Amino acid sequence: MLDGSLYEEAWYYSRLMLSLNKIFSKLRKNKTKKNGKASPPQRDPLIIPRPDHTISRSQISSAALKVLYGLKEAGYDAYLVGGCVRDLLLGHEPKDFDVATNASPEQVHKVFKRSRLIGRRFKLVHVRFGREVIEVATFRAPPEAEQHVDDQGRIVRDNVYGTLEQDAWRRDFTINALYYNIQDFSIVDYTDGLADLQAGKIRLIGNVETRYREDPVRILRAIRFVGKLGLVMDDDTEAWIPTLAGLLKDIPPARLFDETLKLYLSGNAAVTNELLNHYGVFEHLFPQTDALLHEEQDGYPRVLLTKALENTDKRIDDNKPVTPAFLFAALLWEPVRQRWQDYMANNIPAIPALQRAASEVIAEQVQRVAIPKRYTLVTRDIWVLQIRLTQRLGKRAFRSLAHPKFRAGYDFLLLRNESGEALEELSEWWTLFQEQDEAEQQKMINALPASAGGAKKRPRRRRRRKPVVKSD
Ligand code: ATP
Ligand code: MG
Repeated sequence: MLDGSLYEEAWYYSRLMLSLNKIFSKLRKNKTKKNGKASPPQRDPLIIPRPDHTISRSQISSAALKVLYGLKEAGYDAYLVGGCVRDLLLGHEPKDFDVATNASPEQVHKVFKRSRLIGRRFKLVHVRFGREVIEVATFRAPPEAEQHVDDQGRIVRDNVYGTLEQDAWRRDFTINALYYNIQDFSIVDYTDGLADLQAGKIRLIGNVETRYREDPVRILRAIRFVGKLGLVMDDDTEAWIPTLAGLLKDIPPARLFDETLKLYLSGNAAVTNELLNHYGVFEHLFPQTDALLHEEQDGYPRVLLTKALENTDKRIDDNKPVTPAFLFAALLWEPVRQRWQDYMANNIPAIPALQRAASEVIAEQVQRVAIPKRYTLVTRDIWVLQIRLTQRLGKRAFRSLAHPKFRAGYDFLLLRNESGEALEELSEWWTLFQEQDEAEQQKMINALPASAGGAKKRPRRRRRRKPVVKSD
């Protein structure tokens, strides 16, 4: 017999499939369907009325509903759009809710007291309800060819408002261009997104090469959605990635940082990382790591990274917090470790050698992916703790234990050990040490051999006696 939650899940999916089948049969009947997806054709959208789909208002956050109704009552059109509609149809809980409207940003701002206009290139409105922020975007028109596109085909200026239909055609993937209409609770589909959702396909809207060139970040988004949603890319969407991945070098490092976090914190980092490698994209995000991992397909560095990503995914699944600093510690460990070893081989002491290696690797990395200092500082702490944890004599073990980043440093030590570095004794010692009371901890320290490091006393400097001045 199925237990309660399994039963609910099975019931839910049977309803979902039923509803998608219903939608799909309508779709086949849709006589207006025309010429593929190369350019925005003039045609009626497919409209799925409320009884024929599974999205109900109870699944939509109250903040998003307030925005939708607020706009509607002010006389504007208002739709949920993008990832939230896609995720609801797939039976996932949306990460956030985005709204599209025919009201201009200034008009939206007037409707909601607690709203803020943001963005320069394309103005958006953020409406805040407590901790939740709903992003409201005015329908956008297609970029007017030449004058808005640079010589790589990248969009450099676009700030033109448009219609719902135009807005649909300039979104990235068909499954991201579905709208939920607050007017009658129907779903509106201009780009065959529902058919693609049904078929489990991620398809870039329009001419694939042009759309990737306009905004190469779409390459990262395609890979992210494959990893996160378990869908597959359509042939063309997939085929252009290796050829165009190099365009990512022109994307501002701050934007690549945002996208990198989304790639690795979506709960599917291990799979996503494999996809990034497979499509030749990883080298454009982490070139130093890629150069070393390439040489060793199954070696220690790759095992360490995979384990770190699997742990991250598990923590997210268990609703535990994850720190990006740990993720970057794992992603950049191999280049740091190798430089560190080189510097030590040149007689630089361990800690300064590691500090130097860390500074150099980070300085190069942030030119590609701008990891903010608040994270890199912690990343460095995690690395330096790898040395400090080997120094256990005297008061040193107690000092490390009191270090604010001890836990992350210790976890990293375990990760290195599990990945094949010979750190078994050290890992087990620290695992036990944390569980003991202070007296036992002291005993553990006393029982350590002198090789456990850290207690080397500095030779005492003899104090010169002050010459006694004789006075007579
Ligand atoms: P999630 O929020 O789950 O990561 P999402 O699809 O909602 O996925 P957002 O970044 O929130 O991603 O974007 C919202 C919507 O905006 C997308 O679904 C898509 O329609 C549109 N969009 C986002 N980025 C782009 C882009 N680079 N090019 C075209 N459309 C985009
Ligand atoms: Mg979203």
